[in-house]
Amino acid sequence: MNLFEPHLFRRQFPLIENYDKSLIEKNGLTSSLIYFDNAATTQKPQQVINSQQHYYQRLNANVHRASHQLSSKATFAFENARTLVQNFIGANSVKEIIWTKGATESINIVAQSLARNTLIPGDEVVLCASEHHANIVPWQIVAEQTGAIIKVLPLTNSGYIDIDEIDNIITNNTKFVACAHISNVLGRINPIKEIIAKAKSVGAISLIDGAQAIAHLSIDVQSLECDFYVFSAHKMYGPTGVGVLYGKEEHLERMLPYQGGGEMIKAVSFTQATTFNELPFKFEAGTPNVAGVIAFAESIDFLAPFLADDTNSYNLYEQKLVDHCFHALAKIEQVKFIVDGKPDIGVIAFTLTGHHNQDIATSLDTYGIAIRSGHHCAMPLMAYLNIDGCLRVSLAAYNTIAEIDYFIESLKNILHDAAFETINEQVSKQAGEVRETDPSVNEMDDIISLFSNTKGWDSRHREIMLLGKTLPRLDKALRNENTLISGCESLAWLKAEYNKEGLYTFSADSDAKIIRGLLVIVLAAFNNKTAQQIIEFNINNYFSDLGLMQHLSPSRGNGLLAIVAKIQLLSREN
Ligand code: PMP
Repeated sequence: MNLFEPHLFRRQFPLIENYDKSLIEKNGLTSSLIYFDNAATTQKPQQVINSQQHYYQRLNANVHRASHQLSSKATFAFENARTLVQNFIGANSVKEIIWTKGATESINIVAQSLARNTLIPGDEVVLCASEHHANIVPWQIVAEQTGAIIKVLPLTNSGYIDIDEIDNIITNNTKFVACAHISNVLGRINPIKEIIAKAKSVGAISLIDGAQAIAHLSIDVQSLECDFYVFSAHKMYGPTGVGVLYGKEEHLERMLPYQGGGEMIKAVSFTQATTFNELPFKFEAGTPNVAGVIAFAESIDFLAPFLADDTNSYNLYEQKLVDHCFHALAKIEQVKFIVDGKPDIGVIAFTLTGHHNQDIATSLDTYGIAIRSGHHCAMPLMAYLNIDGCLRVSLAAYNTIAEIDYFIESLKNILHDAAFETINEQVSKQAGEVRETDPSVNEMDDIISLFSNTKGWDSRHREIMLLGKTLPRLDKALRNENTLISGCESLAWLKAEYNKEGLYTFSADSDAKIIRGLLVIVLAAFNNKTAQQIIEFNINNYFSDLGLMQHLSPSRGNGLLAIVAKIQLLSREN
């Protein structure tokens, strides 16, 4: 019998199972939330959720410190989790398992505690073109600190690290090679064995970013022979705020502590040199995320049997989902995959000719489908592929074929509606009809009243898109570096004018329809205001009054905060 049964697996995840039972009938699906953003973070099974609650109800104490039973129990569970991780990835010793906040912190520890103390000017650090920012920026910082140089491994057309190029890039000058086991955008399993072997042959240290691999592949760090392997619990059905730095003991031994504080010391003195604790505690200053680590053990308990299963039923099911989704997407004319071929895991990245990524992602959200758009923390990869960003569907083993079918149908509906709208606009243009815009809907009160009469995200989204059409286009010459709003996922531009009465008026534009709509809403709040009024305006309250907070709470992610920040900046300039 297969160990992995899709419906039993899915049943463990309450957020998906219980999201909105009232819509279950409507879609013929088992839930109204289609969560396809699993590369960002996975949902949590009941046993992980229970563990967190149980810890605070029954076990809460600081670890390693007190001489009382509760602390002993907490310490036992905490250290037991470390042993589980050790076995899960085949490490030689628990001394090689360091708790961190996540993959990002793990990489920073290696960069600052090892690379910073060993690199000298001219040394080379080799990364790959598809790295997540978490595996780029820490190396850029250390390169700046030491005078080292960063070199980049190119990709094949299918998005793999190009193994034919490794002899040209990894040389005797290379001191560190850091690359992802699987890219969070391309879903390719990189040829890391060859890369690790090559690094070893030139005496370089290898670090593998396993953030996207850990929930899908069985990892054995000893057979990989990497020096470091890093990952985060939240991408493998575990809690946020917990991660692992695996490192070979010989390296960890010679590394200096990353942070100082309690727990990482042997003896502290004002008269003699402070001495540090043994591994792994040397790298764990302060009170750790005890509840998180213990809950993480539950996620390993949950996941490990599926990865170790001889029948391979978990991976086969994941493959079935990828196949189905990839082939269904490939049949849609406008879909352009960002690299050639079907990905190795359920991370599928594409753009849609003639459509803005952010428009598609927010439209899908009105269907209850969560996918990601943007640069996916891989801006250098976007530049390498010559795109501004892309859409990413990322699947997990609790997803279903029915969900994929619903997603494909919804996407087709969105494309169909957009095409219909374009034809209508062209026909009215040819007939000389000018679109009637409602001039009254440009004041903040009008917008609040418009939204107060609009119920549901679907209708509100529609209103935002309609408002977007009323925004006059900004002259092409005005869409330039000076007017560009940085930090917005889509391209957006903003221009300010200032009159004798000290009032500001703003004009703006964007390449995404959703942002054009949001600009109308935001500008209504800020136009004809003084600098003081602009600074004091509370955008969160405004969005709450509009009933948009739960859908579009102002954030850097959707660009709203970037727009508001630029408005405030411009109003300070006079
Ligand atoms: N590397 C990769 C490939 C990732 O996908 C991510 C998370 N998106 C990270 C590193 C960083 O992980 P975390 O934010 O959990 O530290």
